[in-house]
Amino acid sequence: MTTSTPLASVLQYWRILGFRWLALPEATRQREQQLRELQATVQRCRLCPLHPNRRQAVLGVGDPWSPLLFVGEGPGAQEDIEGQPFVGAAGQLLTKALWMVGIDRRRVYIANVVKCRPPENRTPRPSEMSACFPYLRRQIEILRPALLVPMGNPAMSMILGRTGIQQWRGQWFQKNGVWVVPIYHPAYVLRNPEAFPLLLNDLRQIAEVARHFGWL
Ligand code: URA
Ligand code: SF4
Repeated sequence: MTTSTPLASVLQYWRILGFRWLALPEATRQREQQLRELQATVQRCRLCPLHPNRRQAVLGVGDPWSPLLFVGEGPGAQEDIEGQPFVGAAGQLLTKALWMVGIDRRRVYIANVVKCRPPENRTPRPSEMSACFPYLRRQIEILRPALLVPMGNPAMSMILGRTGIQQWRGQWFQKNGVWVVPIYHPAYVLRNPEAFPLLLNDLRQIAEVARHFGWL
């Protein structure tokens, strides 16, 4: 897992202002450590039948301090090799769509419902998603996002308990005090290019609200 280190730039900022020491709250120091521990746990995990198929488990990538958490389905072939979510063809589309609405993907956090690659990139089974869900829940607990963005039906059903991405995409929900906006899965948009403007439209709205609240 690679993470950018916004903490380093914050420290640099205070240094430029003339501060020579800074007391960090315990939680500030803990977040990256907690993610590393979770990463080690999923690497060893054998809770569902996806584990023999993985080269490595893929926990997440991005800025652990971002209030925005995007959630896909599960790692594909390239993700399994690189150990990062959304680095294959769907990932390139996501990266580009985010960039088009002014979001640098390194400044948000990106994860998946299942952490190990399903064979032939099939959709993860409900039993596999349920087995893996506690890890996503733990990730949410650590990252404390203000806005969760499930991408596609599997992530939306796990996070919101709803199905029908066509109907619910771009709608704003509140779940346990966190905003949730489902959007199309980038792989769906790859197969259905006519959906690209709708994906962009939803992302643009997300970017606008995120900027308004200082989340970006
Ligand atoms: N890559 C991911 O990491 N997740 C997906 O759901 C699809 C591609
Ligand atoms: Fe464990 Fe999740 Fe991997 Fe299944 S997909 S083996 S539950 S980490």
